[in-house]
Amino acid sequence: MSAALRIALPVPLPNFFDYRLPEGRIPAPGTRVEVPFGRGRRVGVVTALIDDSPLPPEQLKPIERILDPEPLLDAELLTNVLWAASYWMGAPGEALSSALPLSLRETGEWPELGEPGWRLSELGQDPASHGTRRGIALQLLTQLQAASATEGELDVVLPGWRDAGRRLRKAGLLERFESRPEAPPWQPRPGVELNAEQRHAAEQVIAHWGRYQPWVLDGVTGSGKTEVYLALIEAALARNEQVLVLIPEISLAPQTGQRLRARLGIPIDVLHSNLSEGARAKAWMRARSGLARVIVGTRSAVFTPLPRAGLIVVDEEHDGAYKQQEGFRYHARDLALVRARRLGIPVVMGSATPSLESLANVAAGRYRSLPLRQRPGGSKAPSVQLVDVRAQYLEHGLSASLLGQIDATLARGEQVLVFRNRRGYAPVLLCYDCGWHAECPRCQQPMTLHQSPRRLLCHHCDHVMPVPATCPACASKALTPQGQGTERLEEVLTARYPDIPVLRVDRETTRRKNSLEDMLGQLHEGGPAILVGTQMLAKGHDLPNLTLVAIVSVDEGLHSIDFRATERLAQLVIQVAGRAGRAAKPGKVMLQTHHPDHPLLRSLLSHGYPAVARELLAERQTLELPPYGHQILVRADAHRADAWQDFLHAAAAALQGHPGFHLAGPMPAPMPVRAGRQRGQLLLEGPRRSLLHQALSQALSQLRQRPEARKVRWSVDVDPIDL
Ligand code: ADP
Ligand code: ZN
Ligand code: ZN
Repeated sequence: MSAALRIALPVPLPNFFDYRLPEGRIPAPGTRVEVPFGRGRRVGVVTALIDDSPLPPEQLKPIERILDPEPLLDAELLTNVLWAASYWMGAPGEALSSALPLSLRETGEWPELGEPGWRLSELGQDPASHGTRRGIALQLLTQLQAASATEGELDVVLPGWRDAGRRLRKAGLLERFESRPEAPPWQPRPGVELNAEQRHAAEQVIAHWGRYQPWVLDGVTGSGKTEVYLALIEAALARNEQVLVLIPEISLAPQTGQRLRARLGIPIDVLHSNLSEGARAKAWMRARSGLARVIVGTRSAVFTPLPRAGLIVVDEEHDGAYKQQEGFRYHARDLALVRARRLGIPVVMGSATPSLESLANVAAGRYRSLPLRQRPGGSKAPSVQLVDVRAQYLEHGLSASLLGQIDATLARGEQVLVFRNRRGYAPVLLCYDCGWHAECPRCQQPMTLHQSPRRLLCHHCDHVMPVPATCPACASKALTPQGQGTERLEEVLTARYPDIPVLRVDRETTRRKNSLEDMLGQLHEGGPAILVGTQMLAKGHDLPNLTLVAIVSVDEGLHSIDFRATERLAQLVIQVAGRAGRAAKPGKVMLQTHHPDHPLLRSLLSHGYPAVARELLAERQTLELPPYGHQILVRADAHRADAWQDFLHAAAAALQGHPGFHLAGPMPAPMPVRAGRQRGQLLLEGPRRSLLHQALSQALSQLRQRPEARKVRWSVDVDPIDL
């Protein structure tokens, strides 16, 4: 046994690698080092100094160099990332890669933390030099006469200043300089007055400040959850602490960032995957140095260093987007809880439709619930009406009563949201003569017809095919789009209401940065309009003149084989419905369905989400499904089905003899073919998580050596959210 540096390297293996202790400076855990590995070099992170390496000293290779002047990851973050790797059964090196911004996964140097600032040049300080500048140029000069400012500050106080800035700089009146990094000073500002429920919620959290406590801010849509977050963020800022705010979607980042910035009066650091690598690394490092006080980010922001942590907020905690679905499959909400525990801080999880996991934790006393049942300002929760579309004539999927309500709403000068969770023109292209339909050759699933540009697109693997002019099977011309996607609804509604703006919001139309913001901005003040879109519209957006939500169909979700489908459907309906009647005007929701007697819909409409959640939880308990039972899913795919079968049978055999769980499979995946690969799965289910973990980690170490493992792509998903 010898002393060594234990290092995590970015390779898909569960183990660490030991290297010789260098002479001179010994890099502390959390420091990046470059080491020889195989025939090349790798960048790894020191995880421990050990004195019991199984390798004899002469077999320990020396490290090449130390990359960081001090540990890049502090003890808390390093410990939790390694904990995450072991909990979600990922490779520690890959978990660390998820945690670090791209440039810092390699040999990259620490980014400069200063922000570019602008000030008057010597010439510019003489007002006589300003000439007859007007408009934004004059405002900019006036602003900078008072004090120099960072670009971030100018973006807030003078949006659109950059062109003027460039011109004035060319004219020699302004200079750009690298400002020294400093944490922005914060002063309390007056905000809205919280109502009694909000105040009570905030007071409770503050009363338990400074120690770990999960809170579920269970607030109906429009109940003012964000105002509660703001009050708590202020409490943290007043104590000079940092706050991490997790949000589920990139599209919500600008809006959330602006709202916090406007209210708190300090720059907000935003971290998400659409940022340039440089900007991301910088925000991460600003958090690490304590310069960033409030950090808003999507899933991967859960790895933000928080040396002065005061609070973590997880907004829309029920959202499936918090689960990483490829590579290192972690769950950001769950990791946020683990970090909060080690950091000794409260974590506030907000939702109008809390996940069954969180509700079960409330029931068990581990989390505490903060209910918000009122909408402040007197707006009422919208009324929901089922529209039975059996035996009704539908105009492109829209019933007469739905169209009648749309007519009436637009006539009153109000706005309508038409919700359909399918992008594209039509989900199926069918031949009326022979029954042929366009199918993806790689997935054996129907291809979606898209019109702009016109093509057949597989939503599972992105395979594209031209649209045939005649049926490839019988040469008939009777090829007919079946069903409605958002593109088709947009077309139908535009034709029916030629004078009303119809805006479509889905992945196609919002690809461009800020396009969603721009579209919703148009509607914020506006008169009658129709918004057609997918679940991107379910979240967060506040449109005061939107009074009707028309849900075209959610029937697919009623018959899914995934046991979580009902929970998701209930959440989606409530979230979409919550877009209606957010301000003074009352809202209405119409939900078209072929199954008006379905117990889930009945229950949701007559008793609301809490009742549905209770029923679903009781069902899960009876069936020993999560959150009452635990699951780990082993997935495998290959060009041939026998390859995954061999692998999963070997896995099942390796699991034999371990106690405490039940095996389902090996069996084909719910989608047995995808992108040309045959897919199978093996599900471990049991009441004790630790037994599942133990059995599987032992089985995996055997399995990795087996020849069957080399013939498949395989992965392990702990607490899978889709089976
Ligand atoms: P949620 O996040 O719960 O859907 P928001 O925080 O966005 O709700 O609040 C909904 C609306 O109500 C916003 O326009 C917000 O400004 C307003 N609001 C929230 N709390 C109050 C309050 N105490 N008094 C007046 N208006 C409020
Ligand atoms: Zn045909
Ligand atoms: Zn496909």
